[in-house]
Amino acid sequence: MDFRLNSEQQLLRDKVSEFCKRVIEPKWIEVDDKGEIDREIIEKMAEVGLMGMTISSEYGGQDGSFLEAALAAEQLAYHGPALSIAVMYLLQCSWPYIIQRYGSEEAKQEVLPRVAAGEAAVGIASTEAHGGSDVSSVQVRAEKRGDGKWLISGEKSMVSLPSVIERMPWGGGWFLIARSGDPGLKHRTITDFLLLMKRNGVLTKGISYKPWTEFARRGLDTSVLTFQNVEVDDVYRVGEVNGGFKIAMEGFNLARTMIGAVCVGCAEWLMERAVEWVRTRKVFGKPIAAYQGVSFKIAEFASALEAAKLLSYKAAWTADRYYRDGVGTLGDVAKLGAMAKLRCASLAVDLGEEVMKIYGGASYFKETPIFRAWLAAFSYVVGAEGAENILKLIVAREVIGREFIE
Ligand SMILES: Cc1cc2nc3c(=O)[nH]c(=O)nc-3n(C[C@H](O)[C@H](O)[C@H](O)COP(=O)(O)OP(=O)(O)OC[C@H]3O[C@@H](n4cnc5c(N)ncnc54)[C@H](O)[C@@H]3O)c2cc1C
Repeated sequence: MDFRLNSEQQLLRDKVSEFCKRVIEPKWIEVDDKGEIDREIIEKMAEVGLMGMTISSEYGGQDGSFLEAALAAEQLAYHGPALSIAVMYLLQCSWPYIIQRYGSEEAKQEVLPRVAAGEAAVGIASTEAHGGSDVSSVQVRAEKRGDGKWLISGEKSMVSLPSVIERMPWGGGWFLIARSGDPGLKHRTITDFLLLMKRNGVLTKGISYKPWTEFARRGLDTSVLTFQNVEVDDVYRVGEVNGGFKIAMEGFNLARTMIGAVCVGCAEWLMERAVEWVRTRKVFGKPIAAYQGVSFKIAEFASALEAAKLLSYKAAWTADRYYRDGVGTLGDVAKLGAMAKLRCASLAVDLGEEVMKIYGGASYFKETPIFRAWLAAFSYVVGAEGAENILKLIVAREVIGREFIE
């Protein structure tokens, strides 16, 4: 076993780090304050291949592995720990990959090269007001008309990216999870679509959104998204009719794997701020690092961070083994992805809270940016891409046995 990155991975990490120092670091606080990711940042990300990392070169992407994508995600989060930019990136690593795997050739050729070029973005539209955790109960309707087109109606209650997509020159949309039959049949009547809100510069009729006011991780405009008889051509269906549930779960597995890496980057930034602070902040005539009440906390979190980082890399490696080498099972990918999100997100949040305390009163003012990283990671503890208990259910199912856990 060799824990070192190979030379290609090292090179990639260094290149992304250099890019982030130049492009992300000077802008991340402004993005968070403005609540908007500048077009220029996305264009520059696309220029260096960061908008189509896991998309095949056949569709203009980088053919990157999930481990490579995770290394880049860690850097984007470390250099922009308010996370909007890293989250926008991780969505492009996950959901377009699923569209590439299960979408129609026509839709893939149309949309994936636009994502890789930074002209379009794709997110996930799953959560509804009656409970995001129960994906098998979605109510947004997809009805097939006589002419073969689908009509989509209903409401998703928390969906990121609408304003980002609206500002994209070409457009983009969401991997939409919809109900295509008897709701009583739960996961057996779910069909997925690539629902484009904007296509070739033109907004799709019948889609509107109303952003929530996010207190952190601003820049993604998480919104209520409403569909009023939106016409969707069958070429944008992803996978079989009524076969959408399993495909959607694959997307969540990959997104959670990437979230692990994002939260590691965020935690690394927090850890560095803590170490810097305890070395320089003097109270009672000594740097506060000299007090074990402080230094032992750093030791505990440094140990947890090391473990989380290894777990995050292993989750990405597990996804690569399954998707690139055909080794292992989807259950492995689901378990490791859930574990990575569970451990890495809670570590970033717990560390963020501790660093707030280590900074003392200075942490409580906007001039000290620790709160931005802490609260950004919090989005992943409260629910984004799967609430903590749901991740535990997935892990428990794989560890104990599906026959014991519903
Ligand atoms: C910042 C942010 C961005 C988001 N972006 C998106 C997006 O782009 N697209 C999208 O579709 N969604 C998005 N979401 C929504 C997110 O996916 C949901 O919050 C998440 O799935 C949980 O759903 P819920 O909030 O409705 O909580 P609920 O499902 O109502 O759950 C509430 C609580 O009950 C617990 N719980 C539920 N069921 C069980 C059970 N069986 N056993 C034990 N405990 C249980 C949960 O763990 C949770 O603590 C976003 C959320 C946030 C905060």
